[in-house]
Order: sequence, then C-alpha cells, then structure tokens
Amino acid sequence: MGGTFDPVHHGHLVAASEVASEFGLDEVIFVPTGKPSFKQEQDVTLPEHRYLMTVIATASNPQFTVSRVDIERQGLTYTVDTLRDLAAQRGDADFFFITGADALEQILTWKDADELFAMAHFVGVTRPGHQLTVDGLPGEHVSVLEIPALAISSTDIRARAQAGKPVWYLVPDGVVQYIAKYGLYRGLS
Ligand code: NAP
Repeated sequence: MGGTFDPVHHGHLVAASEVASEFGLDEVIFVPTGKPSFKQEQDVTLPEHRYLMTVIATASNPQFTVSRVDIERQGLTYTVDTLRDLAAQRGDADFFFITGADALEQILTWKDADELFAMAHFVGVTRPGHQLTVDGLPGEHVSVLEIPALAISSTDIRARAQAGKPVWYLVPDGVVQYIAKYGLYRGLS
C-alpha cells in the first residue's frame, strides 16, 4: 500500500483491511513515500515522522507491516522502483499495489508506466461518491473499491491540527499523541 501517509489515518487502515479481505492477501505492506514525485513544490512532513506514525498505526495488526524502501532510496519516489525493491526482497510474492484512486488515475503518466502492469495488480481505493476515470486503464490489471471510511482525509487532519481542533478518532490514538509530541502541522500556511 503506497501513500504519503501525512498522516496515516483510519481510512487508510480500513482500506487496507478491506482490500486484504476482498483479494485474499496474506500481508499488507505499507510503504510511505520518500520524496513524492508530484509534490516537489509542496511541504511534506519528514519521511521519518511519516514512517514512524505508520509503524505506530499498524503495530497491533499482525497482517500489516511497514517498509522503508521508499524513504531509504535516494531521489524522487517512483512506484516502479518501489515494486522492483519489494520484488527483490519477496521474489515469490504476487503483488497488489493499493493506493488512492485519485493518484491511480494518473498511472499512465508514471515513470516506466508500460512495465507497471506486469509487476502488480493495481487497486484504487475511493472516497464515497468519487468516480474513477478509467479511460485507457487496462481493466484486467486495475480494480477499484469504494471505502466509506475514506471520508477521512490527511488534508483535513492536517488542517484540523493546524487550527487546534481535535483529531482523536480520525487517526489511531498513538498517532494523535505523536502529532502532539512533535508539534506536527502547526506551522502550515
Ligand atoms: P496523493 O496525491 O497524496 O493522494 C491522492 C489521493 O489519494 C488523496 O485523496 C489521498 O488521500 C489518497 N491516497 C493516497 N494514498 C492512499 C492510500 N494508500 N490509501 C487510500 N487513499 C490514499 O498521493 P501520493 O500519496 O503522493 O501517492 C500515492 C502512491 O502513488 C504513492 O505510493 C506514490 O509513490 C505513488 N505515485 C507514484 C507516481 C510515479 O511513480 N510517478 C506518481 C504519483 C504517485 P489521503 O491524503 O487521505 O491519503
């Protein structure tokens, strides 16, 4: 499961659980991005903070793990490199790449897009009411699943934290405490 996870929230966790159930997955590996390729101009929280919040959020679920492949690779994060690194570690696995449907809509513009569909089955998880533009995406390699809990969004959580509003119950308790401990999202403009 790829994402910036800034911060990870209950929508991500429900989505991971739902996709695992729907596709019979043994494990969901959360892969926080290093430097997202489409966000060079934007402020993104330090990778180590996003990684640690993801570890805290997933710690109690034996089916969930977190990988450092994207945060340890130099340069911008591209999914083709994520899948190559994971395949090198787990050569015998069948991969499903789960991410937000909004991000997946752009997959044909991603680096080495022609190789991606041979490396994994892609699952786009959507917020209620979101229509995925599937034009041009190969249906046999791409699935879409609507997840009601994705009404929660990282953007909203960052705005709430900045405004001093509570984020309890939107993210796991440990993540609420981590955000407070390090004062994350306070200085957003
Ligand atoms: P994003 O632009 O931050 O997110 C786009 C939308 O998808 C947001 O609404 C976001 O909601 C949602 N989303 C993102 N990850 C999600 C997840 N795991 N589960 C549910 N919803 C999710 O997208 P991003 O985080 O930068 O990129 C997502 C993934 O696609 C990453 O693994 C990234 O490396 C990959 N990607 C690759 C390329 C490339 O190879 N060129 C380009 C773009 C993205 P929240 O903000 O609430 O999460």
